[in-house]
Amino acid sequence: MGYNKFKILIVEDDRIISTSLQTILEAGGYRVISAERCMQGLMLFSSHQPDLVILDLGLPDEDGEYFLQQVRLESNTPILILSSRSDEQDKVSALDLGANDYITKPFGSEELLARIRAALRISHRSLQPAATGGVFQLADLTIDYDRRIVSLGGERIHLTQTEYNILALLSHNTGKVMTYSKIICQIWGSLDDGSVKKLQVNMANIRRKLGCSPGDNRFFVNELGVGYR
Ligand code: CA
Repeated sequence: MGYNKFKILIVEDDRIISTSLQTILEAGGYRVISAERCMQGLMLFSSHQPDLVILDLGLPDEDGEYFLQQVRLESNTPILILSSRSDEQDKVSALDLGANDYITKPFGSEELLARIRAALRISHRSLQPAATGGVFQLADLTIDYDRRIVSLGGERIHLTQTEYNILALLSHNTGKVMTYSKIICQIWGSLDDGSVKKLQVNMANIRRKLGCSPGDNRFFVNELGVGYR
């Protein structure tokens, strides 16, 4: 199979997982480089400039969060975290440190490739000035940032200020998981006991106004216990 143009760096010390990732990615046409340690991963990152990184958080020398912080000082390259079902909190803090998404072990190859394609599509698109212009378009949803107007299939949708701000924030971060605390801090400035509930109520209203019935993931995916994508 021929290679596509994307290069992926895997930073994972578990050889079985690393090898299976490599097999899946190469079958998907990606070029793969891999590291078993954090420092080696950082060196390969600067010498190879990969298009995307798959990062395990538990590494033998420094942990994956250190890798994430170092890379984010200078680069927006998409980083997908590999996590096990048990480290919910690690996942949330990695997303807050700037990871784009996460994949829960054990993962299926189709899901993995879909998440990689989504992350690459977004990073590629964000390089193009048209996407940073005044209008956002996703299927029949349009957001006019200059006029703060949202419409669906040409019909104007009436949102409160807060609902609009949440929708605009999520649309600026399409495809990226935004944790509850990140959204709350950007919308209300601070976190308190009731704020997750307040966010959920606002999200329910936005979903209803956009005509999404429960379980309809057309515009948003609720990553339970973590945030929204
Ligand atoms: Ca590990």
